[in-house]
Amino acid sequence: MVLAQLGGSISRALQQMSNATVIDEKVLNECLNEISRALLQSDVQFKLVRDMQSNIKKIVNLDDLAAGHNKRKIIQQAIFNELCKMLDPGKPSFTLKKGKPSIVMFVGLQGSGKTTTCTKYAYYHQKKGWKPALVCADTFRAGAFDQLKQNATKAKIPFYGSYMESDPVKIAVEGVERFKKENCDLIIVDTSGRHKQEAALFEEMRQVSEATNPDLVVFVMDSSIGQAAFDQAQAFRQSVSVGAVIVTKMDGHAKGGGALSAVAATKSPVIFIGTGEHMDEFEVFDVKPFVSRLLGMGDWSGFMDKIHEVVPMDQQPELLQKLSEGNFTLRIMYEQFQNLMKMGPIGQVFSMLPGFSSELMPKGREKESQAKIKRYMTMMDSMTNEGKLTLDSTNPKLMNESRMMRIARGSGRPVREVMEMMEEYKRLAKVWSKMKGLKIPKKGEMSALSRNMNA
Ligand code: GDP
Repeated sequence: MVLAQLGGSISRALQQMSNATVIDEKVLNECLNEISRALLQSDVQFKLVRDMQSNIKKIVNLDDLAAGHNKRKIIQQAIFNELCKMLDPGKPSFTLKKGKPSIVMFVGLQGSGKTTTCTKYAYYHQKKGWKPALVCADTFRAGAFDQLKQNATKAKIPFYGSYMESDPVKIAVEGVERFKKENCDLIIVDTSGRHKQEAALFEEMRQVSEATNPDLVVFVMDSSIGQAAFDQAQAFRQSVSVGAVIVTKMDGHAKGGGALSAVAATKSPVIFIGTGEHMDEFEVFDVKPFVSRLLGMGDWSGFMDKIHEVVPMDQQPELLQKLSEGNFTLRIMYEQFQNLMKMGPIGQVFSMLPGFSSELMPKGREKESQAKIKRYMTMMDSMTNEGKLTLDSTNPKLMNESRMMRIARGSGRPVREVMEMMEEYKRLAKVWSKMKGLKIPKKGEMSALSRNMNA
């Protein structure tokens, strides 16, 4: 996902600012310019970027900040808040209500992934206990009904459509009526994809909406649409009352910044993102964890939830204890490597930490990375003779030249690799140390804790 690049650029800009001895107007401007450049390169609309920049400048008045205030923290927080604001339209997102059938209509450009997303949305809710159904009101694209039928059959979701009928309004109304009678509580209407601002198709979409009276209209947007996102999203909003956005193909090479622009144009929240072609490659979208991740602050709420979800209860206290101490030893690194290799529960948890596995094991280069980790582990195996002191120390200086030579000899690897491993150790220790002070939650306290860490 190219958004990771955006995150990287923003984190670097913040880091550079942190490295400056004094934070003055010039340093702040440089940092904000850098961040603005990164956002523009990611296809965020120019006006949004400009507004963000001026808002931050308004909030962060360096002259007003009394000495002793942590300026960096204040600036980082302001950037965090502004990015959240960009993605948060400020109105609560629509929630489906049990007990009455909800009608959700999907609209979007042709090829945006609308039909695929309808099924993903239905499948997601089906797993949560809803009784969804799909209606294909796309009579424009040949093969649209077949595609929906195929997807729906795979997911065992009832569907309705017609090869003969050419009036999408009629099909939509019939489909909705039928599934209401069958007591489906989530009726999803897929409409024809529009190419551009074709007046007739927009009129058709408006008629389908008027006839079915949907509780929610979802605008589906391909993340690669780029700078055009704002105008497209606005065009849809002018015809139907869009209430939510789903951004697709976030797994691809898209820059993704268009998503931020679409929120501004539709004044509606992003509720899910599509991360692949398969039915379950679909994620709930939450603004704060998303921005945290973007800024390299770590997806704390997701991280804590993941610990809760996948680490066996009896292993949770030990893991949390180690994390809260923030001391990363070579022994812990060894254990984490073992977990990552197995992709066992703890490996899954650590794969969510920014910088922990994304750089150690980047997507698409898993094989090379695994070989590298195996080499590191072989070197560490030969360290047992170095005694407990080295393995359980948090001081990388203990690993002096003669120790490194011995390890290289013992493992049959070049000294260069031992040095490389120690560099990796230092980098991971930094990631780990961010967790220092983590409060060990009691049962039921997980979400409160993650809220604190996001704040
Ligand atoms: P529609 O014309 O808007 O209904 O688009 P489709 O649902 O037919 O999707 C167009 C193409 O995008 C298909 O090949 C889908 O498999 C693909 N697609 C949809 N969502 C995603 C996604 O999140 N990631 C990826 N990689 N492909 C997707």
